[in-house]
Amino acid sequence: TFKALLAAKTGDKISTSVVEMNERDLMPGDVTVAVDYSTVNYKDALAISGRAEIIRQFPLIPGIDLAGTVEASSYPGIAVGDRVVANSWGLSQTHHGGYAQKARIKGEWLVKIPAPLSTKDAMAIGTAGYTAMLSVLALEHGGITPQRGDIVVTGANGGVGSIAIALLADLGYRVVASTGRLEEADYLRSLGAAEVIDRRTLSEPGAPIARERWAGAVDSVGSHTLVNVLAQTQYRGVVTACGLAQGTDLPGTVLPFILRNVTLAGIDSVNAPQEARIEAWSRLARDLDLDKLARTMQVVGLAEVPDVVRQMFAGKVQGRTVIDVNA
Ligand code: NAP
Repeated sequence: TFKALLAAKTGDKISTSVVEMNERDLMPGDVTVAVDYSTVNYKDALAISGRAEIIRQFPLIPGIDLAGTVEASSYPGIAVGDRVVANSWGLSQTHHGGYAQKARIKGEWLVKIPAPLSTKDAMAIGTAGYTAMLSVLALEHGGITPQRGDIVVTGANGGVGSIAIALLADLGYRVVASTGRLEEADYLRSLGAAEVIDRRTLSEPGAPIARERWAGAVDSVGSHTLVNVLAQTQYRGVVTACGLAQGTDLPGTVLPFILRNVTLAGIDSVNAPQEARIEAWSRLARDLDLDKLARTMQVVGLAEVPDVVRQMFAGKVQGRTVIDVNA
């Protein structure tokens, strides 16, 4: 048997509890993984709270991310003993996810964790950090080099934001962090932010086109914040959009696109092709400072997941929360 956090639904209400399960309860898949760690992303909070319909069948083990060691495999290229990471795909939607000591999943969902990253590092990164890297790759793809100017990172204290700041600063970019928690400015500077601004300067309705401030942006907030960032982006700048922390709306105009040739680059981590995942993970292994990563990380057990979810919606979680499923 193994331990898992199981989500069940009664009426409209989702509840979770830590239970003992059998290997025969696992779903079909060609690889069995002894899970070391999982994590809590914003999407996990949405799933477990029921604020978004992410879990499509109950009961289900939530957790969109997992990292561990392969125990059995009939999938080509994945062998017993390999250290692997899985991000999203069907996890926590239609397939049991990472909040368990054991997982059986499709080999094609797995990426081998590149050295020097540990399974714990991989979950401190998680979907949030891998999405931050996809965003950095999109800026590079759009030709945004450090010489072009400042990069603004919104939702700076969050998972995507924290890791994006660390990555960009170490790649030589000058990073401006936008946050609602100015009292955390020292943390953001320790990750590499050169300047910290109040998110209220971006979150209210603004002019359709404004003074050019940013060569690029990593936005995890959406809504007016994204529209204002677009309006303040320099000629031929690139803005990446991965999130909706403020809202899913985009209440702006086409002026930044047609007057300033600004590119709005969409970022999806869930169905990203395997080549993109492998590139992102190998760049994370190369570019992410593990001391900074440790600074973003807190580690808790399976039973504490619901509490982390509550704190996340209260805007109190900083950086990344790793779940030690064996604690
Ligand atoms: P997180 O750790 O909760 O961070 C979100 C941050 O956004 C918060 O820490 C806060 O930063 C800021 N924020 C929250 N509410 C806000 C509001 N009303 N207005 C302005 N800013 C607000 O979440 P995460 O895991 O980093 O994810 C961030 C976003 O990206 C989420 O919307 C998530 O769904 C999305 N995401 C998408 C993908 C994808 O594949 N597209 C992948 C990963 C994440 P401050 O306290 O610093 O202001």
